[in-house]
Amino acid sequence: MICLLCSQRFNSKEKFSNLFFLRKSSKAICTDCQRRFERIGSKHCPTCFRPNIDKICLDCQTWQEKGHRVNHCALYGYNEAMKDYFSKYKFQGDMLLSKVFAKQVKKALNSYKGYTIIPVPVSKERYRERQFNQVSALLDAAGISYINLLERKDADKQSSKSRQERLTAKNLFYINTDHNLPEKVLIVDDIYTTGATLQHIVSLFSKHGKDDVKTFSIAR
Ligand SMILES: [Zn+2]
Ligand SMILES: [Zn+2]
Repeated sequence: MICLLCSQRFNSKEKFSNLFFLRKSSKAICTDCQRRFERIGSKHCPTCFRPNIDKICLDCQTWQEKGHRVNHCALYGYNEAMKDYFSKYKFQGDMLLSKVFAKQVKKALNSYKGYTIIPVPVSKERYRERQFNQVSALLDAAGISYINLLERKDADKQSSKSRQERLTAKNLFYINTDHNLPEKVLIVDDIYTTGATLQHIVSLFSKHGKDDVKTFSIAR
């Protein structure tokens, strides 16, 4: 068997947690690679899950000062292994890798009873390049149903704006429906870095009077 992440050959009789075993495929993730992922333990920022800190982190303090409420959950720390994973998955477009965290994602999202799951979209041009939205693909792999209520503007349509304006998460997303929005929403992204993208989306819902909006990501 070949490891999808490091390409090393390994014995398929080796015991690996079926979590990382990609069913209907002769490929899997070897135990060396599995061990490199760091699950976020009990010690994390209470509002954004930044690992290894037991009080509200600086990012979250800044959001609070700006009047934002952070209510985020993440599964793994964004370490070198995660970086490698997302570079293979997103940028090299290896869609099989959408299955790697399927079980954990399913388990984690099942605890959001009554919440409508909404993935963060990719731009149309990114979609054309990759042929998939890495966030929806993660949800598909986990068998989680979701609704696409968000749209991401194309960067080329924004070319009249300054580079700085385009780089900020502001104005990048909009809600693509005139219909009633769900009362409880969980926005799902792949990686939480500054929280700018997710906080911007949360504020879009808040403008529509929807304040029970939580966020989730694989990595933080
Ligand atoms: Zn490996
Ligand atoms: Zn935080």
